[in-house]
Amino acid sequence: MKLTFWGTRGSIAVPGKDTLRYGGNTTCLCLEIEGQRPVILDAGTGIRNLGLCLAQYGQPLDLCLLITHLHWDHLLGFLFFEPAYRGGANLSVGGWPRGMEGLRSLFDSRRGDGNFPVTFSDLPARIQADESLRPPRFRLGSVQVTTIGLNHPQGGIGFRFEVEGRALVFLTDNELYGPGPYNPDHYARFCQGAEVLVHDAQYLPEEMASRRGWGHSDWRSVVELARRAGVGRLVLTHHDPGRRDEQVDDILAQARQEAGPDLPVEAAREGMVLEIKD
Ligand SMILES: [Zn+2]
Ligand SMILES: [Zn+2]
Repeated sequence: MKLTFWGTRGSIAVPGKDTLRYGGNTTCLCLEIEGQRPVILDAGTGIRNLGLCLAQYGQPLDLCLLITHLHWDHLLGFLFFEPAYRGGANLSVGGWPRGMEGLRSLFDSRRGDGNFPVTFSDLPARIQADESLRPPRFRLGSVQVTTIGLNHPQGGIGFRFEVEGRALVFLTDNELYGPGPYNPDHYARFCQGAEVLVHDAQYLPEEMASRRGWGHSDWRSVVELARRAGVGRLVLTHHDPGRRDEQVDDILAQARQEAGPDLPVEAAREGMVLEIKD
């Protein structure tokens, strides 16, 4: 499995000089599994550049899009996803059961005309909900995918991709100690022994008191989860839109110190590639 980050920012895209190294685009990742069509995770603004990259491969494009939840920062890029405008392209939508509804509503606003000049039904690509890509578990070829709910306003799901005992877990927009049906024990079990954990670490520990219930975690809670679950490598993502590159550097430095030498920690940046050998 090979995972590429196309968007690492939370809440809203923040291009500019302060976000050049970690990136300003919102959440989008691409998982490549040998012998399988590309698997896109979320359709934040990062999906635009991914679409331009995929466009180079020519026809026919066959893609899978897994949605974690319906917040704008995980959907809005789809309006400018080049393969959606391509006849012959095939896009299967799975993950959060309302994912297809979320994509459709970007185009066909019930609030009246004027949000976007193209309607969903006019898109040339074949875009369909795929019932075989639904929680609680499904397969992508040799990869077993399991899901868990998120502690996040209006809900959502996280994914564990596993092949021959080697696992990659993606949990974004998740408040580990937040209100909601799940607690850190559930997440520790879900992440147990994963080779890589990619987790939302939008906040500083000292910010949490004023952000309870917002559906995001602080870096220290995430390090604690990774250590408890015996994760091999931790990647912090969903960087706060107000955080400059140097501030993400500071978070990373503190997280590395807290994690110790046995748990490598990185901060997700656009263009970063992680390989899990299978
Ligand atoms: Zn988000
Ligand atoms: Zn969200």
